[in-house]
Amino acid sequence: MDSVRHLICGAGISGLATAAFGKEKDLLVLEKDLEIGGYCKTVKQDGFTWDYSGHFFHFKHKDIEAWLRARMPGQRIRDVQKKSTISYKGKQIDFPFQKNIHQLPQDEFIECLVDVYFARTRTDGTAPPPEKNFKEMLYARFGRGIAERFLIPYNEKLYAVDLAELDRDAMGRFFPHADLNDIIRNMRTADNASYNAAFTYPEGGAIEYVKALASEVETSRICLGEELQSIDLRARVAKTNKREIHFERLVSSMPLPALLRAANLAHDAAAFSWNKVLVFNLGFDKKGPKDVHWIYYPDRARSFYRIGFYDNIFDADRLSLYVELGYKHGAPVNVEEAKQKVLRDLRAEGVITDHKLVSSHSVVMDPAYVHITQKSIAETARLGRILNAHGVYSIGRYGGWTYCSIEDNIVEAQRLVADFDA
Ligand SMILES: Cc1cc2nc3c(=O)[nH]c(=O)nc-3n(C[C@H](O)[C@H](O)[C@H](O)COP(=O)(O)OP(=O)(O)OC[C@H]3O[C@@H](n4cnc5c(N)ncnc54)[C@H](O)[C@@H]3O)c2cc1C
Repeated sequence: MDSVRHLICGAGISGLATAAFGKEKDLLVLEKDLEIGGYCKTVKQDGFTWDYSGHFFHFKHKDIEAWLRARMPGQRIRDVQKKSTISYKGKQIDFPFQKNIHQLPQDEFIECLVDVYFARTRTDGTAPPPEKNFKEMLYARFGRGIAERFLIPYNEKLYAVDLAELDRDAMGRFFPHADLNDIIRNMRTADNASYNAAFTYPEGGAIEYVKALASEVETSRICLGEELQSIDLRARVAKTNKREIHFERLVSSMPLPALLRAANLAHDAAAFSWNKVLVFNLGFDKKGPKDVHWIYYPDRARSFYRIGFYDNIFDADRLSLYVELGYKHGAPVNVEEAKQKVLRDLRAEGVITDHKLVSSHSVVMDPAYVHITQKSIAETARLGRILNAHGVYSIGRYGGWTYCSIEDNIVEAQRLVADFDA
């Protein structure tokens, strides 16, 4: 039987960051795919560069960004001021909706303003009741007008779930909160800054950040096409499709429910639900709308919830889009039918006119957004403690069953290996 001190499952951002930043070099990275990258893979086709889904980067830790850039020689990285809008009843409104209600027709503006005011200002002197879930949080903080025009339909299209099932803080720092002062102030001086108001993007695509991490890992240590299939927690032995490996520590970035099944660990499977996202990357023969990077679509009649414009990041002269459609996990997906509907919807929205589609690619990300609920939070924490006691650490967006960015994945991996090395 092979034996390593650190066995790492997954050669995405989390797994490779664990391998790159740890002092322990007696390690193996198992990756079931034939390529590294996980969800940060990049597709290059017919002169277009696309990711699995639009991956734009916004680093808060400048040291991490500098570390990565130092390992990307010759790679031009674009710094972009994000411009995002919302398609609402045939008009474009600046994102986030809650800070731009003054751009609505006057009657709708007044309704949203009155609703948000009275949602937050209690006239009877009592304390507001606690918000029990995400939907209640939206009503309580933004009122019916804003919630029902944008926040609820948009997020239900994305998450493909009743928002009352999600935890109040299901989106964490990724939710663009705004209080009454922000909303009123924004009417005169636009400040639509959100968590990713400015972003960077390497010309070679998201995979360039993955390659930077992989450059610090000996190639022979990354085992492509090797899937972790079961784990004997007591014996600390992992079984793959190729062999058995004894480990001292196992760091896994595979989705937590799959890890629990592999480890045969009793758990409440109903605590874990998620959506999947069908992504179309579409290349056209000529330019489309300029000066926009993201458009959000709350209209339930439109198949997609958001589209992004690579050509406006790259200053390219041909429209290059990614289009995201949310589905319930387990729902059937007819890719060809969905593509035809996407093209019709893009035309109806005026994004394309007589454009000719010259290249296309699609991928289903499953899981894409995990449903963070009270139950999932408690079960993830409880199971994490049991796994840790057996030298197993479940990390990353899906191992940690959370909502995060690649920078968060790197920070988490750095902290974990710092604990190991301490
Ligand atoms: C729609 C969407 C848009 C996003 N946009 C952004 C963005 O703009 N900016 C940003 O910073 N982040 C974004 N993210 C988040 C980002 O993609 C993730 O945080 C990051 O890719 C997660 O990396 P990971 O290594 O934790 O997981 P993954 O990328 O899922 O990697 C896990 C790896 O484990 C492998 N694996 C799974 N099971 C096994 C097994 N049994 N044996 C061996 N290998 C296995 C998989 O093949 C995969 O390679 C987005 C995510 C989504 C879904």
